Amino acid sequence: MSGTTRSDKELDRDEAAFLARPHKYQYLQSEARKIWAEAQKISVSSREDGWSRLAQHTVLKPNPNPKGETRPIGAEIISALRRHLANLQGTRCCYCRRWLQNIAHARPVEHILSRDDYPRFSLHYRNLALACRDCNQQKTNKNWTTWDQTAAAYPLPEEARDYFHPRLHVYDGHIRYVRVETNDAAIAIYQGLTEQGRQLCRDHLKKISQVDALFKNNRQLSGAIERLQAAGDNPEEAEKVKLNEFVDALHEAIYRIAGD
Ligand SMILES: [Zn+2]
Repeated sequence: MSGTTRSDKELDRDEAAFLARPHKYQYLQSEARKIWAEAQKISVSSREDGWSRLAQHTVLKPNPNPKGETRPIGAEIISALRRHLANLQGTRCCYCRRWLQNIAHARPVEHILSRDDYPRFSLHYRNLALACRDCNQQKTNKNWTTWDQTAAAYPLPEEARDYFHPRLHVYDGHIRYVRVETNDAAIAIYQGLTEQGRQLCRDHLKKISQVDALFKNNRQLSGAIERLQAAGDNPEEAEKVKLNEFVDALHEAIYRIAGD
């Protein structure tokens, strides 16, 4: 299965890298590690959303501290996690692969198995990825899997068969995409290469790819994109797609912009 799934070893190594630096200040790293492990343990044993608990965790600043000031160490651990994941993902969204902007609200942490339905995995390292705001808002708390909600164990890479899982799967093994951008427009076509890739295209990326002016105003181009996207959903149709038709329409659109 190499090329479509990530190995346990690789995933463990990533987690160890995060745990080596769970806080930006070195002197707080061992405390941050303890807080993370504790919150993780509570969410597993009590089946409670440990994410909110961690996000609200504060500690007293060191003495002398007459006013009893606190520092939001939980939020700071989440920031460290966000930096780690951004680095791991090449600063791109885990679903649509667009660039992530460098502001926290534009790079929300995505819980792949939702916190509502799988609270015990709310702090499971393999359940966390960075999505762009569009993807995060569109996916909300939906689940694309039928994985048993009472299961104690997190799915292994080879067990995520019915949906695309951005941490367990290798993106390029499941999805191929073309993205073209101009000053005022962008189009993207996603094609699923596997069952899991086709699921993501069908349930999510199709909507994400329906962007702006060029797409909407050019009937010929949007028709070609729709047919290509449909072929991505249905492999039998792939043979019938006229790629040339799309490329011609794209060229025409680009030349029209260039000629303006
Ligand atoms: Zn995205």
